[in-house]
Amino acid sequence: MTPIFQTSTYVQESPGKHKGYEYARTQNPTRDVLEKNIAALENGNYGICFASGMAAIDAIIKLFKPGDEIISTNDLYGGTYRIFKKVFEPYGIKFHFISMHGKSDLEREINKNTRMIWLETPTNPMMNIIDIQMVSEVAKKHNILLAVDNTFATPYLQRPIDLGADIVMHSVTKYLGGHSDVIMGALVVQEEKLFDQLSFLQNACGAIPGPNDCFLVLRGIKTLHLRMDRHCENGRKISGFLVEHPMVEKVFWPGFESHPGHLIARHQMKDFGGMISFTLKEDSQQAAFEVLEKFELFSLAESLGGVESLCGHPASMTHAAIPKSEREKVGLKDSLIRLSVGIEDADDLIDDLAKALG
Ligand code: PLP
Repeated sequence: MTPIFQTSTYVQESPGKHKGYEYARTQNPTRDVLEKNIAALENGNYGICFASGMAAIDAIIKLFKPGDEIISTNDLYGGTYRIFKKVFEPYGIKFHFISMHGKSDLEREINKNTRMIWLETPTNPMMNIIDIQMVSEVAKKHNILLAVDNTFATPYLQRPIDLGADIVMHSVTKYLGGHSDVIMGALVVQEEKLFDQLSFLQNACGAIPGPNDCFLVLRGIKTLHLRMDRHCENGRKISGFLVEHPMVEKVFWPGFESHPGHLIARHQMKDFGGMISFTLKEDSQQAAFEVLEKFELFSLAESLGGVESLCGHPASMTHAAIPKSEREKVGLKDSLIRLSVGIEDADDLIDDLAKALG
């Protein structure tokens, strides 16, 4: 097993004469192994790990300067929206949020200052599907970078670099770690120049993960394929149960043939994952809270992607940083409940849902 190099520095033979390692913010052998591992999973050349998914996003946006513009999907993780709007917009970087379903809508947003397109697919929490290949063709035509947050799908289900993305981002905290015991982020890139710029930022700004966490993620990744198969199987069963339930208004899961992005999802994903959102016929925060408080097996908590099932209320939890008017534009209602379906027995999970909804 990869040893945990729990050290902050490395002994040198003579000033400047060292064995490839000088100081652990810059390099750590345990982290090196994990970075190569995640890069290999994504079919990319270089991996760079960060202290959190947000630190990874922070490094990407620091590639740009005041006056630069970025186009993003309008349905996205609330923390990503927050860092774009509240941290980087005051520094003069401009963000445009669009649905990104149509090529012409996307091209209309591009101007001479556009530097990057940012997308999530499936999106968090509305489970929209964005056609990565279509967006990458537009990005290449206009010489713009394309970054994809692949947290929901994981490289087991979807590999954005194969579809033309320049940067893949992960909240490793989620499925890659898989056990809800680590906060970490990662970037994977193809181009050496981009790698050099991002690893410069990793070292210069210093938001690196510790070696013990790298060890835990390496261990988690060994079972990624097994966990993902089970997440997908349970997701299929649970979305099938929810769609028939009289209390449920709508279920958002890309595996349904009726989902508007189903055909694209079939093309770019191996399976449809274990993330499901649904709204209640009684559309109120109170109705959602009553259901959420009654779960026994699903734990009410922020986050996703662990072996245990979690449930959450995006409007007041993960997406509270997005103003209500913006949430409503993408259909994120007050009764929306998001499930991260774990790897437990599907019948037990369905019993829990039946009791909570009943
Ligand atoms: N991207 C997505 C899709 C997420 O769900 C999250 C966290 O929930 C992040 C990014 C941020 O990652 P972290 O919490 O590891 O900083």
